[in-house]
Parts: sequence; C-alpha cells; structure tokens
Amino acid sequence: MILYIKLEGQEFKYQIEDVARLFLCDEEIIFCENEPPEDFGGIFLSGSFGMQSGRAVFELGIKENRAGRLNCLSSMAIPLVYDACGQIEHENRKAVRRIVKKEIYRVLSECTGKKMPWGILTGIRPAKIVHELMEKNMPREDILNTLTQYYMLSEDKAVLLYEVACTERSILEKTTDDLISLYIGIPFCTTRCVYCSFTSNPTGGKYGAMVGDYIKALKAEISGVRELIRERGYKIQSLYIGGGTPTAIQSGLLKELLEFIEETFDLSHLEEYTLEAGRPDTIDEEKLKVIKDSKVSRISINPQTMNDETLKVIGRNHTSKDIINAVSLARRMGFDNINMDVIIGLPGESPEMFENTLQQIAELKPESLTVHTMAIKRASKLNEEKEQYRLISADEASYMIDMAPKYASDMGMVPYYLYRQKNMLGNLENIGYCKPGSESIYNIQIMEEKQTIIALGAGAITKVVYPSENRIERAFNVKSLEDYISRVEEMIERKKELLI
Ligand code: SF4
Repeated sequence: MILYIKLEGQEFKYQIEDVARLFLCDEEIIFCENEPPEDFGGIFLSGSFGMQSGRAVFELGIKENRAGRLNCLSSMAIPLVYDACGQIEHENRKAVRRIVKKEIYRVLSECTGKKMPWGILTGIRPAKIVHELMEKNMPREDILNTLTQYYMLSEDKAVLLYEVACTERSILEKTTDDLISLYIGIPFCTTRCVYCSFTSNPTGGKYGAMVGDYIKALKAEISGVRELIRERGYKIQSLYIGGGTPTAIQSGLLKELLEFIEETFDLSHLEEYTLEAGRPDTIDEEKLKVIKDSKVSRISINPQTMNDETLKVIGRNHTSKDIINAVSLARRMGFDNINMDVIIGLPGESPEMFENTLQQIAELKPESLTVHTMAIKRASKLNEEKEQYRLISADEASYMIDMAPKYASDMGMVPYYLYRQKNMLGNLENIGYCKPGSESIYNIQIMEEKQTIIALGAGAITKVVYPSENRIERAFNVKSLEDYISRVEEMIERKKELLI
C-alpha cells in the first residue's frame, strides 16, 4: 500500500509522517502537491493546517483507492497559549502536536482497521512518560487512563509500562548527582550477525591484528577518564563492558583490561559490574576464570535463539548445545547472576520455534531474560538482503511476544525495563525480565537517562545528565578502530570539555 499525503502548511509534517509510518512499516509514503491520479493504489490523506486568530486549525480528509470522494474525517480548532515573547508556549505546542498525532492515528486506524499496541507513542523510552506522571503524584488509575486515552496505548501495554516504571523507581530513587555509570566498549565479534548494526569488527584478519592496539588505546582513555572522575568527585555505581562481544578477544588481553580497570578506578561504591560474555563460541574455562577473578558480578550469555537452523541463518557459528554448555560451565564456576537475551522474529522462526527457545532457557534458570523484538536496522545485512529472508507479520510478532510473560513469571521474574526502537516488527518493544533483586542498574539508567554515563571505546557515546535543568549533553567517540586508536587523546578531550 502507498500512502499519498498532500499538506497545506508544513507545521505538523513530522508528526504526520511519524504516525503514518506506524501503519505502513516499510511501504512508501509520497508527499504530493496534488491529488494522485484516478487509478492510484493505496490511501490518499489530505491535510490542511494553519494558525488562525489564536487557534491551531486543521482538517483531515482521506480517500481510499478509487473510492471517489474525499471524506472529511477530522476538523478541529485548538486554542493556542502564547508566552510573554509572543511565542506559543512550549507545553501548549506539545499538546497541539499530540492532538494532531491522535487525529492522524484515529483516521488511519479507521481506514486500515489496525490498532497499534503503543498507540501514538513513537519514542524509544515510553516509561519516561509514566515517571513524569508519577512525579506529579498522579494515581495509578489516572496514569493508566492517560496512557490509553491520551496516548492510545492498548490496555495491556499501559499496565506493562506502569509495572515497569514501578520496578524502575526503586533503583532510580537512589540516583544522586555524584553517582555515575561507566560503559566500556569492545567492538569485536567472531562473525557478524545478519541483523547487526553495532560497531563490531571481526576478530580475524586485519581487524583482529588491531585488538592489542585497541586495548592500549582503551587503557589510555581509562586513565584520562580516571582523572576526570576524581576531579568531579564522581562515584561509580555501575560498570558495563559491552560490545561487540568482549569475550571475543584473547583471554590475555581481557585479563590485562580487567586488571587495569580495577587498578585505575576507585570501585568502592560499585553496586553492579556487568560483562557481556555474549556468544558461547567466545567463552571457555580460561576466559570465565579471568572474569571470575575480577570484580565482575553479572554476565550475559546471549543465545538469541535455541534453534540450530536459525543460528546458522543469522550467522552464528555455534549450536544450542554450546549455549547450554557455556551456561552450565559458568554456573559450575560460581557465576550467580546470568542474563540471557532472545530475539522475536528471527528469519524463518515460527511461534513454535520461539516457544522452544523459551522452554530451553527456562531449564537454564537465568536470573534475567531480555526479550527483543527484531528491528530491521538500515546498516544490517538483513536489511540489504531482505528478500532472501522470511520475516514474520506484525500479528505473529505480537503473538510471540505475548508468550514471554508466562515463561518469565514461571521463572520467578517480573518486567523491569523496557525500550523501543525504530522499525521493530509489529511496532512492539524490547523488554527485560528479572528475578526481584537482579534488576540491572545500568540497563535502567541508560533507558531512563537520570544518570551521567561516561562511555569509553570506539563508537561509545557519553551522556551527561543535568537533572535540575532537564538537559542532557553528549560526547561522541569516533567509530572506526583506526581513528579511535590514533585519536584517543581527542576522545578524552571531548569528555573534558563536556564535564568541566
Ligand atoms: S554478537 Fe552482537 S555485536 Fe556481535 S555481530 Fe552479533 S549482534 Fe553484532
């Protein structure tokens, strides 16, 4: 289906496209100046928007295929509130945009017969809205009504979001201005997964030969950041080593890095230290011993699926048996906080296959389980060669995501963090479940943006939070390995400029 949009006035173009995308996924949106020809296939949406006599006025009309007449479906005039400088007040402008989004949603929902689980919400961090309402002391029922009536969420998603926000609050309440988190990125993997769009380089060949220099550069950045942390009087609450796959590098280099981190930073306030052991083909007894000898308290072993055919399709060179062996080995070595990630909608997977994954994971009894919904990223092989893969429909994705709560609950877990991405199948979500007490502080803080997170390594993004001003500033590290290694001093300077 093609959606043609003719707009008079550009004021709400972004909001309209945003909501229209929810209904169309991959299909085309064409902005046009005139009505499309008689035999057009698809939907034609006509909108006129303007500001008249202190009111935002808009009209929406819609015509399907050759249905002939343009039906006027919405006509509204919303009072505007101006500030002392004659500008529309910030909150009023936001409210007007939301009303426009709601009307576009209503019109397209009627026309297509579809409802979106997350209504008009298109942002990455939906729980932020609930936190804002909680800060205004709004009671639970009113928050749920706001989510379903104002933002058009389904009742299930509204309740889920509320539950997640409640769990997050117990962690967020402990946030103080001097507590920070650290992220350290190791952008190497053994092979590249078809859906990957992360900064990740193969451990073989040209890039593999650069691992040693990368660790050297990372140590320089760690030393530079140590000085910044000291000067600012920050305390490190959580530390997260991610990637890539940190365990993809040689055990000697991993040991060198972990020891350097502990020698360099004051970790006396550390409450959580996660290392992504990611893929079982990168873990062995020697590496797990290196990790166990450090202060790492939480590891992630991420199967994504327990179906061997799918593991081949997505570009993994290990089997489900390797995953079981890796978790069993980690347990025997005393790891007592293990997260496992799975993905809904991997190419060729049916609901039965996803259920098999959940059943096998339940037997491994992890402390937390993160359920992702496949997002087709622009830079991924999956996107480039889309026609070669069979992907599931929005309804199938929705059916599959609804299986997870039962398995999570049977494992004694509750939902504790949640986020969304662009181009997710069925416009769904990624959701983290955990046993009470195993909530990842880092995962909550990165999502809710209440804490400064200093990020080191190629492609890492530092976020400095100014809570009293409701402001966030960012410093970006370069992505390419060569640039990072040769320009690491500049990466430290970028953080200094932001933090001093
Ligand atoms: S393991 Fe993660 S970072 Fe590595 S290639 Fe796969 S998706 Fe990308």
